[in-house]
Amino acid sequence: MYWTLIVIVGIVAAFFVWASADIGSGVYLKTLCRKRTDEPFVALTFDDGPDAVMTPRLLDVLDRYGVKAAFFLVGGKVRKYPDIVRRIVNDGHIVGNHTYTHSVMFPLSGGRSVRKEIEDTQNAVGNMAGVRMKLFRPPFGVTNPVIGKAVRYCGLQAIGWSVRSFDTFEGRDRTEVCRRIGRKLHNGAVLLLHDRCKDADVLLESVLKEIKARNMQVVTLDKLFDIEKYEN
Ligand SMILES: [Zn+2]
Repeated sequence: MYWTLIVIVGIVAAFFVWASADIGSGVYLKTLCRKRTDEPFVALTFDDGPDAVMTPRLLDVLDRYGVKAAFFLVGGKVRKYPDIVRRIVNDGHIVGNHTYTHSVMFPLSGGRSVRKEIEDTQNAVGNMAGVRMKLFRPPFGVTNPVIGKAVRYCGLQAIGWSVRSFDTFEGRDRTEVCRRIGRKLHNGAVLLLHDRCKDADVLLESVLKEIKARNMQVVTLDKLFDIEKYEN
């Protein structure tokens, strides 16, 4: 009896950990992580920018390859680097909401502060670049009932990923990071990258070569999922 109870509590606890920590669980928030398709499409996404140094470099690489991506921006950095945000939008890339402070406390915050994090970022990007974002990516991929409610209240669509690059692990060999991405790529993939990482531009170039070598095509999130990127 005692052991049965421990097993049941363990299973229930494991469920709640999975529901919160796995971006693909969709328990608290319907999140688009991959497109089930036979078409060789892949979408590129960059989190945690804009970065003063790296984001312009990434934009140069994307421009050179004629490829469009999505940037999930941190509102506080948007206020610091409005010109970069305007360039992202003017270059035809998508901008999405990645909260205002990207605090580690975000998943533990109450409804009012979660909503403020989201709305402050909506306003920052709206004021700086003139677009009303529709896409949201939760920091750390963590969701819970409070975050789910706030995102729905703000009318946003949550976007996850299906291929994590682990590019934030400092000191990890970039060739190995790219090789791993290559192994994980699939039709309809959403690839998670970060524009705050050292050598992110070098990694992006290798990834784009890998995608080309596999005869895959980079498409934007709105095209991949047939969704609206901005409010009209
Ligand atoms: Zn992030």
